[in-house]
Amino acid sequence: MEILIGRDKDTGKMKIKAEGKIMLYGTKRLPDTVLEEHIKLKVEDDSIRLENLNLNAYTYVNGQAVEKKTITRQHTIELGNDHYPFDWRALDELIPPETDIRPLKTIWEEYESQNISLQIAERRFNTLRSMTGLITMAAIALSVTTGERNKWYIILYGLAIVFSLIFFVKSFIDSSKIPQKRQELGRNFQRNYTCPHCGHFLGNQSYDILVQNDHCSYCKTKFIH
Ligand SMILES: [Zn+2]
Repeated sequence: MEILIGRDKDTGKMKIKAEGKIMLYGTKRLPDTVLEEHIKLKVEDDSIRLENLNLNAYTYVNGQAVEKKTITRQHTIELGNDHYPFDWRALDELIPPETDIRPLKTIWEEYESQNISLQIAERRFNTLRSMTGLITMAAIALSVTTGERNKWYIILYGLAIVFSLIFFVKSFIDSSKIPQKRQELGRNFQRNYTCPHCGHFLGNQSYDILVQNDHCSYCKTKFIH
């Protein structure tokens, strides 16, 4: 696909010509130093080839005057001597925008590992709590096998009571801690695991799934990974 970009003679607005169609973009008038056919973009699969169409006119890519250059949407294009900044959004329909999602990989991995740590903390706590029951059972078993309530029975039973009390107090204190941590983790994750282009939360899907989906389901921006 070839896209011609320049300044519309009558309105002064940005003119985009592609696939036999002419489109005017924006409300601003472009400076006279932007020609009617100023640049040509040749779009093929993953590459965009820019060409400055008139030797007497200037086109800048990332601040440097160029005649021909392979570019991406991450490059800054300026047209004419007045360095009129070209707005890539003008081409959203012709060349879908792209966004780098690589930073999201670390965010997902951290979220996942913290989630697992919380689960482990919960399980560990439950295991410890079940010890109280084990001690009580040992005390009962002892009294059954020896047929009398000897000092071990009393010690074990005492231990069971002490442990029960400790776990009761601890679970009372901890009961809000883990859910609180979980909530905080979820909130942070929702704030950070977002599309870099539109800022929409990308949901509880792993980084690998994002890579497979290939684009943001809200703004259709293509993911670079
Ligand atoms: Zn998006």
